[in-house]
Amino acid sequence: MPSELVYDALVLGGGPAGLAAAIQLARFNRSVLVLDEGGGRSSYHQVNHNYLGFPGGITSRDLRRLCREQASRLPIAFIDDAAAAVSRQGSCYAARTRDGMEVHGRTLVVATGVRDRFPGFPGWETYVGRSIFWCIVCDGYSTRGRRIVVVANDDDGGVTALQFLQFTAHVTVLSNSAHCGLGTKVRRELEARGIRLIEDEIAGVLGHDGILGAVELKRGGTLEADYLFSLQGITPASELAASLGCEISHRGYIVTDMEQRTNVPGVFAAGDVTRDLAHQIATAVHEGITAATTANYTLYAAWQRHEQYR
Ligand SMILES: Cc1cc2nc3c(=O)[nH]c(=O)nc-3n(C[C@H](O)[C@H](O)[C@H](O)COP(=O)(O)OP(=O)(O)OC[C@H]3O[C@@H](n4cnc5c(N)ncnc54)[C@H](O)[C@@H]3O)c2cc1C
Repeated sequence: MPSELVYDALVLGGGPAGLAAAIQLARFNRSVLVLDEGGGRSSYHQVNHNYLGFPGGITSRDLRRLCREQASRLPIAFIDDAAAAVSRQGSCYAARTRDGMEVHGRTLVVATGVRDRFPGFPGWETYVGRSIFWCIVCDGYSTRGRRIVVVANDDDGGVTALQFLQFTAHVTVLSNSAHCGLGTKVRRELEARGIRLIEDEIAGVLGHDGILGAVELKRGGTLEADYLFSLQGITPASELAASLGCEISHRGYIVTDMEQRTNVPGVFAAGDVTRDLAHQIATAVHEGITAATTANYTLYAAWQRHEQYR
């Protein structure tokens, strides 16, 4: 393998975390290749109202487009395809794309995000980011005084539903499953706080252009709602990191230290794939830049010698 074909860093994922890492690495004058299959959380319709510097908010799609434009002004290589497999090859890491191309890097930054489990009724994608959300931190504030349906089928979801009372009195919990997984204690608390629990499944919604009017239930009837919060869980995209031997938490996230190192030397992780809480653009950008900075240090030969004696 000719050495000029080995990048200083391969970045898996082109969301805010991956792009922040790539831009910072390029600004360390390192050669970088980003593999991105597109999509991810930053590709829905949401407006980010809590990201600093945008008084009127900025749509996630616009932010991502601007970040990619920023990256394009630097010598960063992109392959718009998924990494299907990664492996260690001598002192390097190799990533194979779905199309079968193999690329190599001296370090690897994993920024592959998570996969949400939104309710799968026809046309659901139109609603995500407009009136279907999952995150109380990002979008709880928009629900002030509005009617919300919280789709939750475990105690974590039930407890989050209680937190919505900080914003609105019109909260309903919907199990979206024939079997309700909420425990007795949480059920009692919901009841005591005036939150109705409905054990039924979503058949569809009534609405237009992504704006919700009501949720249709399988057993008949509708629930009027302005917003739906889907707390059905998420799957961290941590399989590739796991295949390299990276430690994965019991919730499926890649475990890192505060400098975004994983337990595998030369492999770093950033963004939603590293943490259970605080899934935020600001966090993703912070972790992306931190991962790039740590990767840059490890690429210095003197640093590698120093690390051996730590
Ligand atoms: C409805 C909604 C509303 C939100 N509102 C806000 C908000 O108001 N404020 C806020 O700060 N945050 C908000 N968020 C959260 C925010 O979007 C995420 O925290 C952020 O996108 C995380 O960035 P990331 O780069 O880690 O992951 P992502 O943005 O998900 O990017 C991951 C990228 O990796 C790619 N990828 C995955 N696997 C592979 C692979 N094997 N090979 C190559 N590429 C791969 C994906 O396709 C994707 O492009 C919201 C999210 C949603 C869904």
